[in-house]
Amino acid sequence: MQETSELAVARVRHALKLRLLRVIRVESVTPQLRRVVLADDSLADFVSASFDDHVKVLFPAPGEERPNMPTLGPSGFVYADDAPRPAVRDFTPRRFDTEARELELEFALHEAGPASDWARQARVGDYLGVGGPRGSRVIPAGYDWHVLIGDDTALPAIARRLQELPAAARAIVAIEVEDSAARIELTSAAALEAHWCYRDYAEPGGDSPLLRTVRGLRWPQDGAGYVWAAGESGAIRAVRQHLLNERGVDKSRLHAAGYWKRGAQGVHETLED
Ligand SMILES: Cc1cc2nc3c(=O)[nH]c(=O)nc-3n(C[C@H](O)[C@H](O)[C@H](O)COP(=O)(O)OP(=O)(O)OC[C@H]3O[C@@H](n4cnc5c(N)ncnc54)[C@H](O)[C@@H]3O)c2cc1C
Repeated sequence: MQETSELAVARVRHALKLRLLRVIRVESVTPQLRRVVLADDSLADFVSASFDDHVKVLFPAPGEERPNMPTLGPSGFVYADDAPRPAVRDFTPRRFDTEARELELEFALHEAGPASDWARQARVGDYLGVGGPRGSRVIPAGYDWHVLIGDDTALPAIARRLQELPAAARAIVAIEVEDSAARIELTSAAALEAHWCYRDYAEPGGDSPLLRTVRGLRWPQDGAGYVWAAGESGAIRAVRQHLLNERGVDKSRLHAAGYWKRGAQGVHETLED
């Protein structure tokens, strides 16, 4: 599909920066979602041009106060040979304020993993390393309608996007979370239609609740729209196939990403053919 220039998705590169930040606030948004606000003067020039951005978060090893910070080399992080590497995971810059020098991340809690374990116990004064964002995929807010699909890990990106959309836009959202206690309030100037669904294990091997919800979505047939989806890799892969093969979504109007993968650690997959 030929895009007019104002609807073209732009890729922007940013100078890679590595920051050691300290927690100044922690809040349980829901039983499954922990919001952590980090601060440091180095955030004065923090840049994040898209809701789809991620930072690399470096975690202290259990029992350590600070993460073992790498240095920056020409092709990224360089780790000292004589110190254990920190666990590194991707997270969405949910909100940032360069004046106040703050960065907010939201952690979906799950059974176990360095990121989830850290967030569950995070306290004011704790340290985290944050690298990037290294670049942004800027999906224009000027589409007439936006479909946003995801699970808890995509909730920070979806909530940020909704806050950035203009009043003229229409947003249709499908989100899968554990149960009704994991819902958050979504706010947007855009006309918003949100469809929440809950994990149920009644049908092992069947369609995910998210796919079933997406199948039921109705969206405008006219105007220009963009579909964005992120969450568990296998679930999003199935959603993407449905969007392409059954709904005829044009590939140029779709971005789908695996934000995590069942049974694997720290996975990030852009889902393409
Ligand atoms: C671009 C990008 C942006 C992201 N933004 C966010 C964000 O803002 N907030 C957020 O919470 N996550 C976000 N994620 C997902 C997050 O990086 C992964 O969930 C990550 O694996 C968590 O690390 P961990 O150390 O807790 O678990 P890992 O050590 O990576 O994994 C341990 C085990 O837990 C499983 N697991 C991982 N995540 C989940 C989950 N959410 N639910 C159930 N099981 C899981 C794994 O399959 C593995 O079996 C993002 C990912 C990407 C790629």
